[in-house]
Amino acid sequence: MTTRPFVVGNWKMNGLRANLAEARAIDRGAARHPGVRVAIAPPFTLIAAMAEQAETMAIGGQDCHVAASGAYTGDVGAPMLADAGAVFTILGHSERRANHGESDALVRAKAEAALAAGLEVIVCVGETEAERDAGQAETVVCAQLDGSLPTGEGVPARVTVAYEPVWAIGTGRVPSVADVGAMHRAIRTRLLAIYGEDGAGIAILYGGSVNPGNAAELMAADEVGGALVGGASLTAENFLPIVLAAAGPPSE
Ligand code: PEP
Repeated sequence: MTTRPFVVGNWKMNGLRANLAEARAIDRGAARHPGVRVAIAPPFTLIAAMAEQAETMAIGGQDCHVAASGAYTGDVGAPMLADAGAVFTILGHSERRANHGESDALVRAKAEAALAAGLEVIVCVGETEAERDAGQAETVVCAQLDGSLPTGEGVPARVTVAYEPVWAIGTGRVPSVADVGAMHRAIRTRLLAIYGEDGAGIAILYGGSVNPGNAAELMAADEVGGALVGGASLTAENFLPIVLAAAGPPSE
């Protein structure tokens, strides 16, 4: 992996204006690790304020609608995210797929909308525990990649994939480093099939119960280009050691 490691905090439905101070602490800490690209995806309500205050890290959304605007009560269009200062959006998170019935086709349509608005996209894929137990993990993930990823001229440079086994999200359980490496290799193979040689440059993040204690070994696994972090991204105390782990050992 030649690109900078990418460490993204997904704040999910957490965070009030009072938590902007925590985001500032993360931002200032991230400045000490220029070799790592650090980002936070806060709830929509905090994007503009966080983007105004961030000096180092990128700010993104957690979802977007397929339409740019219109009669879609409660939804947010990708141009609105960009207007608020977001530079990327997460799409296809398993909580959206499970709680909002999002299909691969919908995730791809959202990704196309986000790209059209000038955003980068982080497309999430991952198997359930039952699918892994049935030996279907790679098949399921590859089908999600085939169905969810946008294609087209210039697209690969603006796409990141996050592999997040559903059973590892928020549970404190993580796959073995060998299993993470095997899945990331399978994802890389699929990206090369989808995008040709441009698929080689796409960052593949690992997500699912990453914490300061396990980040270094997970990010050292084959083809892991960074991390998508939920719970441990909410405080500088927990998130910055993960950024440090992504930076790797200091050079001699
Ligand atoms: C996530 O929801 O993207 C995630 C990885 O959560 P956690 O780190 O809390 O498992």
